[in-house]
Amino acid sequence: MKKYNFSAGPSTLPEEVIQQASQAVLDFNNKGISLIEISHRSKDFIAIMDEARALAKKLMKLDDNHEVLYLQGGASLQFSMVPYNLLKSKAAYVDSGNFASMAIKEAEKIGKIEIIASSKQDKYTYIPKDYAVPSDADYLHITSNNTVYGTEIKTFPNTNIPIVCDMSSDILSRNINYNKFAILYAGAQKNLGPAGVTMVVVDKTLLGTTGRNLPSYLDYEVHLAKDSMANTPPVFAVYTTLLNLRWLDKQGGPEGIEKKNKEKAELLYNEIDRNPLFRGICVKEDRSLMNVCFFLNDEEKHKAIFDQMCKDANIVGVGGYRTVGGYRASIYNAMPLEGVQVLVNVMKELEKTHN
Ligand SMILES: *Cc1c(COP(=O)(O)O)cnc(C)c1O
Repeated sequence: MKKYNFSAGPSTLPEEVIQQASQAVLDFNNKGISLIEISHRSKDFIAIMDEARALAKKLMKLDDNHEVLYLQGGASLQFSMVPYNLLKSKAAYVDSGNFASMAIKEAEKIGKIEIIASSKQDKYTYIPKDYAVPSDADYLHITSNNTVYGTEIKTFPNTNIPIVCDMSSDILSRNINYNKFAILYAGAQKNLGPAGVTMVVVDKTLLGTTGRNLPSYLDYEVHLAKDSMANTPPVFAVYTTLLNLRWLDKQGGPEGIEKKNKEKAELLYNEIDRNPLFRGICVKEDRSLMNVCFFLNDEEKHKAIFDQMCKDANIVGVGGYRTVGGYRASIYNAMPLEGVQVLVNVMKELEKTHN
């Protein structure tokens, strides 16, 4: 029996994507060789990379200034690549969660960083808002969805300063203006595909102004010039991401999936708010559609029972992040409504039988 996988990342992918990826590993397009054996310089793989770039552009409705890259090193490498490629005198960062603070730590190794807003004092339970972006900043770095704490930006800042966004855990989950960003990046393993590839969208017109002589791999312009094939790309991760983008296209793209994601999140948050045994963690207006974090009010009394009931219902991966505790249900694009309903039913059952 396939489990309902609420893990934060690597995370659930559509059943059909897993099937197609598995088949391609066994025998790619009936060619008698595996996907992971084909040359990245072959016509077959170039077609995969071209479609993966074009389909991502189409789904995000990107203009001609923006280009899609598939890189390695995870979102974590982008914490360094962004300042290497954009930072001249100073950059502004919003500290909205643990990944935002990791991005700050890395950028501080490269240049001057100003933390212009933070919700750290309140354990990152809300998204900092109403901050002023210094007019002399080279860019503003924000995190659209805070995977660990379950908060998500609903309204993006309005500023003339180029915006860089870590979108690892909510990219392509909703219909936003993706052209608003100078750079956005996402490790694939949350909402795009398997670990091993990172999607980066860059506004080409903003590059090449720092005067730094960068190591080639760290230079976006090197990757742009080689269509993400400056070195051997992670062929399996790119192909599986493409399969997932095709799936997303069939769901109606960001518009179509946003409706479903809202429906799932509403179902779960309504139960957290209604059920006297549970409580939410974050400020309501900033609640994430992707990572739903909640606590049991009486862990001593209910934790062992609830955990067992989840297990019996084929639910896995609902444990909270190690520093937060409680529960975190990650309900990315590929989690069906049915999975969320199963979790809600278990919460109702706990109330009925153990209140
Ligand atoms: C998971 C995550 C990261 C780290 O991604 P890696 O690919 O493991 O480097 C960074 N930012 C956010 C928002 C994340 O959710």
